[in-house]
Amino acid sequence: MPMPPKLSEFELINIFFEGLGPQSKDVCIGIGDDCAVINVPSGQSLCLSMDTMVEGVHFLPGAPARKIARRALAAAMSDLAAMGAEPSHFTLSLTLPESNYQWLSEFSQGLKLLAEQFHFPLVGGDTTKGPLTIALQVHGFTKKGQTLTRSGAQDGDVVAVTGTLGDAGAALAILSQVNAEKCPEAQSYLLERYYAPTPRIKQGLELRALANACIDISDGLLADAEHIAEKSALAVEIDLDCLPLSDALLSEQGDKAIAFALSGGDDYELLFTMSEVNWQQLVKLDEERIYTKIGQVKKGQGVVVKQDAMNSSSGKLIAELITTKGYKHFE
Ligand code: ADP
Ligand code: MG
Repeated sequence: MPMPPKLSEFELINIFFEGLGPQSKDVCIGIGDDCAVINVPSGQSLCLSMDTMVEGVHFLPGAPARKIARRALAAAMSDLAAMGAEPSHFTLSLTLPESNYQWLSEFSQGLKLLAEQFHFPLVGGDTTKGPLTIALQVHGFTKKGQTLTRSGAQDGDVVAVTGTLGDAGAALAILSQVNAEKCPEAQSYLLERYYAPTPRIKQGLELRALANACIDISDGLLADAEHIAEKSALAVEIDLDCLPLSDALLSEQGDKAIAFALSGGDDYELLFTMSEVNWQQLVKLDEERIYTKIGQVKKGQGVVVKQDAMNSSSGKLIAELITTKGYKHFE
């Protein structure tokens, strides 16, 4: 098919964004009018969150459009997961330096992939000219009174996470160096975790009846654990010997793997706390083995990092990392 010339704003919206994602009974009016109109089902609350990604700040200049789209939407959806919300619809504000047909086609395909998978229609947005910037507002529904928050942790709760930690941080390290031929398989696994994080929607829904507090890990485990500690006015103790690390991260980073798991961002896994009784119930049903216990909530404040074997070279590195970031540490 011959490549169309530069597209007008309306052609661009028509071709790439109208009808993106499945139809939904809750969407009365989608793209094409001055507002989208949505029905909030009775007995449900609307959760909403906005995320912005700027070229050169949140992703490398020239990064593939499909991957940027996938990652931007997954990262935004992760906030819905963290509140135990079911994705309902989203809007997109797109600032583009030019209307490049190929780029837009790949970008919309990246969005479509997740939108179809999660029954998550695009219902509106805005399109402007300027430096490449992607802003997504995501909306989801929770049952009234059943929203997961950062503030509900209880003394004695189990602290746990989904998935593995540090993979996306290690991928960023790969992207920022050029000599990238250490172990191609491990590296492509880590890059996939960075560009295509799994929105933990299913887990958020599972957790909402069981967890007392929840947050998604976007800034790194220590930083995000700090938010739960602060909002819940308790201490979050993390046991370094329990952190879930992927084989790819271990083979790529060796002794430094734990440091990535503690402070690497962009994993978009969930960090949550729940009673021991609920934890036992959760792990019984955990066929995928997606959940790992990594610590405990205690009286006190802030994040406390615990490790039994602190004599290795990784121990030294971690001790340094923890003290420079101002966290408490004991062996
Ligand atoms: P208005 O001028 O009334 O704000 P626009 O001309 O900006 O309307 O947009 C026309 C329609 O296209 C609206 O329904 C708007 O929500 C939708 N739209 C505009 N840009 C995008 C986009 N990037 N993604 C999805 N929908 C969009
Ligand atoms: Mg407008």
